[in-house]
Amino acid sequence: MSTSRSPSEARPPRMEALARLPVFFALTAKRAVVAGGSAAAAWKAELLSAAGAAVDVYAAEPSLEMSEIAAHAPQGPITIHPRAMEAADLRDAAMAIGAFEDDAAAAAFAQQARHAGVPVNVIDRPAFCDFAFGAIVNRSPLVIGISTDGAAPVFGQAIRAKLEALIPRGFARWADAARQWRPRVQALALSFRERRRFWEIFTERAVAEPNRAPVETDINALIGETRGAARDTGSVVLVGAGPGDPELLTLRAVRALQSADVILIDDLVSPEVLDFARREAKKMMVGKTGHGPACKQSEINELMIKLARAGKRVVRLKGGDPMIFGRAGEEIEACRAAGIAVEVVPGISAAQGAAARLLVSLTHRGDARRLQYVTGHDRNGNLPDDIDWRSIADPAATTIVYMPKKTLRELSQRARAHGLDPATPAVAVANATRPDETIVAGTIGDIADTIDAAALEGPALVMIGRVLAEVAETAARARVSVPAEVKKSRRA
Ligand code: SAH
Repeated sequence: MSTSRSPSEARPPRMEALARLPVFFALTAKRAVVAGGSAAAAWKAELLSAAGAAVDVYAAEPSLEMSEIAAHAPQGPITIHPRAMEAADLRDAAMAIGAFEDDAAAAAFAQQARHAGVPVNVIDRPAFCDFAFGAIVNRSPLVIGISTDGAAPVFGQAIRAKLEALIPRGFARWADAARQWRPRVQALALSFRERRRFWEIFTERAVAEPNRAPVETDINALIGETRGAARDTGSVVLVGAGPGDPELLTLRAVRALQSADVILIDDLVSPEVLDFARREAKKMMVGKTGHGPACKQSEINELMIKLARAGKRVVRLKGGDPMIFGRAGEEIEACRAAGIAVEVVPGISAAQGAAARLLVSLTHRGDARRLQYVTGHDRNGNLPDDIDWRSIADPAATTIVYMPKKTLRELSQRARAHGLDPATPAVAVANATRPDETIVAGTIGDIADTIDAAALEGPALVMIGRVLAEVAETAARARVSVPAEVKKSRRA
């Protein structure tokens, strides 16, 4: 071979060193041997049975756990032999697992297994193991194993938990459908490229709709798309981004963000939430308020439909919950009218975020049996004139006023005119769940003045009702309760 003449001829990088080789053993109908009857051995017997092995357990005194698992084997049969294992028992075994207290017994067992050519694992004794069991994420037939080479099993478990959350359970059904459809796809005599395309579209669909069971019509649609007969029309998902703290995103919201081609973002969405978006996704701010140029709702609808028609998976990302003062109705209607598939992923509404932060239950026996969300803004920015004031004046109600700032004084006056006690506790929360969260407390009689005095910035809502009595009392003493360190970092 010649020496390199140009940079393009540089040798491709080699695989980096690998602490362990992950392999996936096929155990269906094979024999697996378990020596020992402890609870730890029982758990391994269960695992081997789940993987389809016929498990022979050798234990003079099997534990209760072992007897129970043997009685309810998940897949392959588990047979308990009430005696110690002998070398001959290893014949034809695909795998041997031992549970031993002392090193001498563990060493003898490992040696017997190796002599018989059977891969061996002694539970919690890495020195005697040919292989290790990793942490498992089970979406069979899709299976993920995680190993840290014994360096940090807890770390491995934490990663397993993260993957559990990220990988939809529904992928099991899609992977199973793939297995069933594979022969049919092969029988189609597609070109290599077409076949690849088929599985790419299949994967896209599984990622986009993990919780829907794949059905017969899917394979036909996929074949159609593969052959270019059907064009991908794209879709729209209205996703609730929650009040700000990205930890309040739902798993489904994260999935939608990760499979988006384009994300149309509202002003209220906190930037931290966007860290969860697919990096390649195009992100467009379409806020209706704030300092930038405002987008009209009709323009947003048009853009959304245009992108979906061009085959894009569009995520319409909205603060809080899309279905609460989020104009979701108009966007859903626009999609329907255009024949675009539309879906909604709920989010934590600002009121829920604020209530959680305040540790206030919005309903409470005896104090609040009605919970109502009202907007302080109508189409023209005025207090809506069709508010049912008797409901607002109900002493047993908790009322959450969204978009309260401009009209709160008037709202408070009219509620009092309809009989609401001026001493009813009222709490304003700005930037709920965010680092710059601010709480201002008082009564419905004085809250508008208190908010003015505190010069609240950012999105805020006002919560009114007896359930807020404790918060109002505690905070009223300090008037504005903002931790000093937060105050300093508050955005200008
Ligand atoms: N769909 C959103 C509401 C959009 S209307 C939801 O479910 O939360 C916009 C109003 O929501 C704001 O004027 C404010 O009243 C409220 N809001 C949104 N985010 C907020 C937050 N982090 N803290 C306090 N109020 C918030």
